[in-house]
This record gives sequence, C-alpha cells and structure tokens, in this order.
Amino acid sequence: MTRRVFRYVPYAITQDASAEPEYEARCVSGDEVECGAESGTYSRPDPVEEWQRRHTQDTGHRRYRRDFADYAVLRPAVELAEA
Ligand SMILES: [Zn+2]
Repeated sequence: MTRRVFRYVPYAITQDASAEPEYEARCVSGDEVECGAESGTYSRPDPVEEWQRRHTQDTGHRRYRRDFADYAVLRPAVELAEA
C-alpha cells in the first residue's frame, strides 16, 4: 500500500495583469444627508483625484470615500521561479 504524501506548496499572490484595477470616489460631505456625487470608475487614480479637485472647487465639499479594487492570482512559487 502506498501512502500519498502531500507536500506544502508555497503560493505567491500577484496582481492579475489581465484585469484592470478600479479606482473610484464618492463625495460623503454633508451633515444629515451626504452629497453622494460619484467620480465614476477608472483604471488609474489620477482621473479620480482630478474629479475630486474639481468637485471641491465647485461645491466646497472636502470629504470623500475612496474605493480601490483589483484581482489577485495565486501561483505556485516554483512556477514563478521557472518563468
Ligand atoms: Zn459633494
């Protein structure tokens, strides 16, 4: 009878280059009700920052919630070393 031996495979976590990251912001200024204006979603942070500067200039609003999302892929570290 043979015993299967499971060996520990270390994985490296990397950003998935085939999917673009997402940056966006929403204006949360306001006491009772927040403004709620949204920047829209971009693959780079600069357009979002530009939108915030413009929105602040137009409205005086200064507080934003920022969201960032990306995709991660796990690959065996051995595979990375061979690449
Ligand atoms: Zn606002």
